[in-house]
Amino acid sequence: MALPADVKLFVKNQRSIHLYGGLQAALVDVLSALPDRTYKSLTKNLIVMALHRTALGQAMFFPQFNGDFKIIEFVYDKKIPSDVLRYVCAHELGHLMYGQLFPKKDDTWETLEEKADSWAATWGFSKTKGIKLWIEKKR
Ligand SMILES: [Zn+2]
Repeated sequence: MALPADVKLFVKNQRSIHLYGGLQAALVDVLSALPDRTYKSLTKNLIVMALHRTALGQAMFFPQFNGDFKIIEFVYDKKIPSDVLRYVCAHELGHLMYGQLFPKKDDTWETLEEKADSWAATWGFSKTKGIKLWIEKKR
């Protein structure tokens, strides 16, 4: 498992979400559930961003990185239930684990979503009926 102190420091250093305690707590829970190697691989050069509901866009300055860096952006809703938020965090990390953001050859967009869900479930954050219902109502 990832070290709690490492996880807390990683989340604390995500400047875009510093105002959102609920999102920070969800990320700590999900990242803490990952195997150590997975945690290190996923969080290397990862920037987590929240789109503020009242903003149209958001610009962030980043330090220089060696190699690719990754960004996860959230539309953060203060009313999102905690299990849905944890599922979303794990699902987005699952997309990074699968390693491709666009379908290739035999893949469809649904395949990519299923793979992300599969990774989320592996880490203990399955898409339950309740989560599915909440997300469908939101659309
Ligand atoms: Zn997805």
